[in-house]
Amino acid sequence: MAEHSNGGRTALVIGGGLAGMLAVTALIGQVDAITVVERDRYPEGHAFRKGVPQARHLHVLLSGGQRALEELLPGTLDALGDAGARSLDLPRDLLTRTPTGWQRRFDERRHRTLSVTRPVLDAVVRERVLRAAARSATRVEVLEATEAVGLTGDAHRVTGVRVRSRDGVPAGRAVRELAAGLVVDASGSGSRTPQWYGDLGRTAPHEETVDAGLAYATRMYRPKDPATAPEVAVNVPGWPECPRGGAYVPVEDGNWLLTLSGVRGHHPPTDATEFTAFSATIGDPYVHELLARAEPRSPVYGFRDTRNRRRRFERSGALPEGFLVLGDACCTFNPVYGQGMSVAALGALAVRGTLAGGGSTAEAQRAVARAVEPAWLAAVGADRPYASPEDATAGAGERLTTWYLDRLVARAAIDPVVGAAFRDVFCLTAPPTRLVAPRIVLRTVFLPRRPGLPSPPTAVEGVPAGPRKAAAAARRPTGG
Ligand SMILES: Cc1cc2nc3c(=O)[nH]c(=O)nc-3n(C[C@H](O)[C@H](O)[C@H](O)COP(=O)(O)OP(=O)(O)OC[C@H]3O[C@@H](n4cnc5c(N)ncnc54)[C@H](O)[C@@H]3O)c2cc1C
Repeated sequence: MAEHSNGGRTALVIGGGLAGMLAVTALIGQVDAITVVERDRYPEGHAFRKGVPQARHLHVLLSGGQRALEELLPGTLDALGDAGARSLDLPRDLLTRTPTGWQRRFDERRHRTLSVTRPVLDAVVRERVLRAAARSATRVEVLEATEAVGLTGDAHRVTGVRVRSRDGVPAGRAVRELAAGLVVDASGSGSRTPQWYGDLGRTAPHEETVDAGLAYATRMYRPKDPATAPEVAVNVPGWPECPRGGAYVPVEDGNWLLTLSGVRGHHPPTDATEFTAFSATIGDPYVHELLARAEPRSPVYGFRDTRNRRRRFERSGALPEGFLVLGDACCTFNPVYGQGMSVAALGALAVRGTLAGGGSTAEAQRAVARAVEPAWLAAVGADRPYASPEDATAGAGERLTTWYLDRLVARAAIDPVVGAAFRDVFCLTAPPTRLVAPRIVLRTVFLPRRPGLPSPPTAVEGVPAGPRKAAAAARRPTGG
């Protein structure tokens, strides 16, 4: 990696959350020293912290993200399992209600989704990153309770970060400068890089937003009697005619999380009684019925800002030298698709590969953009029907995507071949082009629309050999 006169072979990561820790992993062995500045103090054990407010809500790690995480930090999936993360085989272990009925439970065994609370996931990843750092030649220092308040440098190059301590008396909170050869912004969706660009004399990067106006409300439960606990998780996403949804999934320690969601005009309430009543109004009463067998373990927590927002740092001239942007600071997604953490891991892997191969930071940022692209297309394609008029207008390609996805979701619920392709793409293990392979298009467009199952299926169905082989072929690395 290129050296810089002030910072030498050093890196500074803004934000010690998931993307920040994965950035450290990507840089270990490539620089001599890494400083992480984190606004919070990390809590003892597996506790919630203010800097990651979304951590109260249901978080699943898709198979594509798991692969990237494991490649970055081998052994992490086992460590998450040891910490109680639950593994859900899709679609077998996740009953899903689509607009046309319940999805069939194919025993595909190709996509395991991990379900675990964010405090556990973050703590396990952080612990493993710091342990890997301690074994490496790279010195890693984490400055907790330290907030980045600006960038240093000029319009062409970032040379460091201005930071302020959040501990102690105000006099001790003076702003100071930390120099670094490379600065990585991993400060999450509240990143202030667009404003900081202004201070450096740069224009903010181009930003695209598609906002379905979705709000979340989440509560933790525990089955009253473990013997009658549900065997599998349930997902009833909203759809245009019923834009309210809910997902009920197991997490560690025998607890379950219920997240209810709704678009503008259908936001789920945070009052406990109203929350329970809302669960009866989503597209199917099944989740509401399950709640009768569980007792609440937490208050109801709400979350409002769920827009898809992408900043185009990879575009020509949009990135000063010595700077990279990763995770939610670069791109956030409607959380209902469960992609953000996986994309952060895929992005970190892309950074590691590019820099280790002698590539520049601009090339690394373009690699991050390529890692973002499939998830972005899937999320904005699915969210278009709910987008607000101020959002970037849909091009013909996006409108076609939305029309096609609608048919594909209906077909995927009943068809093992189309279902396999759909899961490959939405679990981020195959590019979106898999959805337009001739055989998938033929089945999606020309086979007659058929309803899904009328009630949540109890039976698991085998998968014919054909789809298994096709899916295995699709999973083989393409080298690209
Ligand atoms: C309601 C909800 C549900 C979600 N569900 C899923 C899901 O099921 N699956 C999935 O993959 N993704 C999900 N996501 C997305 C996921 O939460 C994010 O993609 C992920 O947390 C991104 O990691 P990050 O490190 O970029 O940001 P964060 O996790 O938000 O971490 C940012 C870190 O930066 C620190 N920080 C911020 N500003 C500063 C500063 N100025 N100086 C120093 N430190 C700073 C913060 O304290 C924090 O530690 C969900 C998101 C939401 C909102």
